[in-house]
Amino acid sequence: MTKKIISIVISAYNEEGNIEELYKELINNTKKDKNIGLKYRFEYVFVNDGSGDNTLQKIKQLQKQDGDIRIVNLKRNFGHEIAMTAGMDYALGDAVIFMDADLQHPPVYIPQMIKLWAEGAEIVLSRRTDNLATGYVYKLCSTMFYKILNWLSDTKIPSKSPDFRLLDRRYVDFLKGFNEHDRLFRGLLSWIMPTDKVKIIDFIAPKRFSGKSKYNVFKSFALATDSIIQFSVRPLRLATYLGLLGAFVSIILAAYVIIEYYIIQHRTPGYATIMVTMSFLGSVILLALGIIGEYIGKIHMEVKKRPLYMADYIVASCENGVFKSRREKE
Ligand code: UDP
Ligand code: MG
Repeated sequence: MTKKIISIVISAYNEEGNIEELYKELINNTKKDKNIGLKYRFEYVFVNDGSGDNTLQKIKQLQKQDGDIRIVNLKRNFGHEIAMTAGMDYALGDAVIFMDADLQHPPVYIPQMIKLWAEGAEIVLSRRTDNLATGYVYKLCSTMFYKILNWLSDTKIPSKSPDFRLLDRRYVDFLKGFNEHDRLFRGLLSWIMPTDKVKIIDFIAPKRFSGKSKYNVFKSFALATDSIIQFSVRPLRLATYLGLLGAFVSIILAAYVIIEYYIIQHRTPGYATIMVTMSFLGSVILLALGIIGEYIGKIHMEVKKRPLYMADYIVASCENGVFKSRREKE
């Protein structure tokens, strides 16, 4: 009987300091693990997301000693979500495990994920009970963001569910059917999530082994806005409501001005009122236009249907359970 294959997809962007340690940990918890090591075949799909450092060289070095390593080399930096997509496209496993390259997703949980999958779970998610790398303010902002996102969107996305998860082949194939450029894996997953066969494992995310986080305040904010736009059209509705509210306030103001002029007969110069009204209406209009603009911008980008990424592979394909090199190019 051919063994089932488990793919581990790792997205790496400028992670030269982490690759070797990650590989060591991975091996110890997969093919060298006494319980699952002999039961399954493993492939390690490293996605190099256009790193500017020695990440690719480090992976290539490892590939020389371990034939189970595949490399998907993206020609430039496409971002974490697209990097995971590329890895998923090339992964051949019956189950695919996604994880970061910085050891914040400890490989020690992999056997547990595989066990749950073997027992029938089709999706194994992780839940970060704590993140030792982030401070109080970041955690507060993150919680608030998910509250707003879930309030605005019909697709509910859990807040402490990082991109460390196992998906059964069935769901991997299904996810491949989504071809939007702007994507948030955890959102797509919530969209397809079956209600039963999902298991969750809790873990505490340690600090990165080496290097710095790729997300600063601005990038996180951009990701947050993009996520809201991807999963909801409610901001458009809010813009309409805001417009209505503005109109209502203006009518009251107009009534007051008329009453003041004709009935109270108190003719104030009205400079302040005009300025406040104008700037209020001006900002409401700009805000509404901005929201519409964001959506039009997204439509503009998506209708082109450009490929999601460009990879110059170094991957392998699998025939009858035997891995074969698909395209070797140095
Ligand atoms: N990453 C990527 N492409 C990017 C940014 C990040 O592939 O453009 C990878 C990165 O190498 C890491 C994972 O995505 O393996 C998560 O990134 P990071 O650790 O910087 O995010 P954080 O854990 O701080 O949220
Ligand atoms: Mg990290």
